[in-house]
Amino acid sequence: MNDSTSISSNPIAFKAETRQLLEILIHSLYTEREVFLRELISNASDALTRLNFEMLTEREIANLDLELGIWITADPEQKTLTIRDTGIGMNAEELSENLGTIAHSGARAFLEAARSGAARVDDIIGQFGVGFYSAFMVADWIQVASRSYRLDAAPAVWFSTGSDTYTLSTGGKQERGTEITLRLKDEYVEFCQESRLRQIIKRHSDFVPFPIYLGEAKEQANQQTALWRRQPREVESEQYQDYYRQLTMEFDPPLTWLHLSVDAPVQMYALLYAPSSSEPGILSTRKNSGLRLYARKILIQEYCKELLPEYLRFMVGVVDSEDLPLNVSRESVQSTRTMAQLKKLLTSKVLDHLAGLAKDNIDNYTKFWIEFGQFLKEGIAIPDENHDPILPLLRFHSMKHPQEWISLDQYLETLADEKEPIYYLLADHETAALRSPHLEAFRERGLDVLLLTDPIDPFAVLNLPEYKSHKLVNAADADLPVEGKSSQAEHPEEQTTPENTSVLVERFKSVLGDRISAARLSNRLVESPVRLVRPKDGPSEELQRVYRMLQKDLHTPNPILEVNAGHPIIQALAALPAEDPNLPVLIEQIFTNAQILEGMPVDPSQMVDRIQKIILQSLKQTGGGE
Ligand code: ADP
Ligand code: MG
Repeated sequence: MNDSTSISSNPIAFKAETRQLLEILIHSLYTEREVFLRELISNASDALTRLNFEMLTEREIANLDLELGIWITADPEQKTLTIRDTGIGMNAEELSENLGTIAHSGARAFLEAARSGAARVDDIIGQFGVGFYSAFMVADWIQVASRSYRLDAAPAVWFSTGSDTYTLSTGGKQERGTEITLRLKDEYVEFCQESRLRQIIKRHSDFVPFPIYLGEAKEQANQQTALWRRQPREVESEQYQDYYRQLTMEFDPPLTWLHLSVDAPVQMYALLYAPSSSEPGILSTRKNSGLRLYARKILIQEYCKELLPEYLRFMVGVVDSEDLPLNVSRESVQSTRTMAQLKKLLTSKVLDHLAGLAKDNIDNYTKFWIEFGQFLKEGIAIPDENHDPILPLLRFHSMKHPQEWISLDQYLETLADEKEPIYYLLADHETAALRSPHLEAFRERGLDVLLLTDPIDPFAVLNLPEYKSHKLVNAADADLPVEGKSSQAEHPEEQTTPENTSVLVERFKSVLGDRISAARLSNRLVESPVRLVRPKDGPSEELQRVYRMLQKDLHTPNPILEVNAGHPIIQALAALPAEDPNLPVLIEQIFTNAQILEGMPVDPSQMVDRIQKIILQSLKQTGGGE
């Protein structure tokens, strides 16, 4: 095999990145070097899968009748190991392109991680595919003899010792496919022993979807059944987690998974995972969303986005159906009826699974909600989705339970009758929400209010008029039939005369002018002197927030100012003489405070000036020389 044709006199330099990768691999202290075999087998399997795919549409294929498989043989005397496949093969140009540079995902991500120091090299070699070059961890030289599947292709040979260069030459391989020969380093002759090789194949490559033959044996060394095609009860949790790691290149185990084997209305195997984080890890393959789609064991699409609705795009995994027509191309697959059936089935299974998780494992579901709750709310925000199965999955913080995650059903349990609405408050963040004057009447009446502080919430609420025939109602809305005890009732002795107060309301109007559309007394306020409410005829708060978020203009009437006649500030203001020069300053500041609590923009410099005036005034009164 080391004959003259395989050594070209013109060495070609590896690309700089490849040299760096080789350097790291060869010199790393990594002990589990056996993973090189997994990488070579996985490449052979990829080459067979690609050939399979070509065979769907292409008649012109060299050695059409060759069995699709992988053959591994060792020669202990020569210290060589050979991995041969009948896959797609490579011509000279492809050999140079594919084995001279590292354009592919796994090795590049590995190199980036190694360079950035984000992970210890030795930890990640084994975990992630570093590809073809990992064979240089155990070999003094590697020869790749290949013959492409195209009828007119010429065989070619690639050869390298893992230094800075490789050579290319014409070869003599007649049969389609690739044969990789390694000359093992003295320390690694163990990889010439069949028993050792068998063990490695079992450990790392058992589910490779093509037969692997070892030595002279006619028997397969691998089990070959893909994990997702096996019976769920036969598969160990560790195997699921291993497969997830291979598939996603994520360090952390998945939060949860579901394994389906369904016969009707459509035949399907599926293995789907929810990752532990919505952020993909540095090496992750999750930067693209979509599921791996197989039709009768043949990989049709790596990232198929048509199998789940957009809002479930965080799920990763594999779907394999016997019912998809095999003559599908990647483009036409989306329009088949089977695809629509698969999507419907998968969506309902995923939502069912999540509902089960919420019931059986609250801790895990809470983690899930924190990572992916936004996505589910997106499902509500999209008008065309079927919202019903998503609604029970929603979780909220509420006024009474700001630290917990409660469901709509838990909220309903606190209600006295079937007509009572579900109240919510929209705010930019939770501290603002809890401080809101709109909540006071609810607190007094012992009613709970859901706190909606995600940017997606106003969109979702617009599509959520009711749940189990309880209306959803914005707590800030002006004319809620909430008969809260006002502080007037609590402190009757402090009650201001209606005359005084109505004069004060007039003063608010004259100071604030058309920045408010009206001023009136409120019976809903307890702790706050005033609050701002939207006029009934204007667009809803949800719509206003949605427009603001989309940076679109929406004409909105100015708010109504409601005054709490029982509040000490209001009472003291009402008692001031009409001509008191402090009055306009104080009214301005009370209005600004209310705007801040509503999350409306205010002018900070004017506010600071005003507050300084107020401070000075108060200092004078507390004994500044008077
Ligand atoms: P990856 O498998 O992540 O693409 P590798 O370093 O393992 O990266 O392989 C590099 C490339 O070499 C592959 O993408 C493929 O194009 C080519 N290749 C490697 N082994 C084979 C093979 N046995 N048959 C055909 N092509 C191969
Ligand atoms: Mg590979």
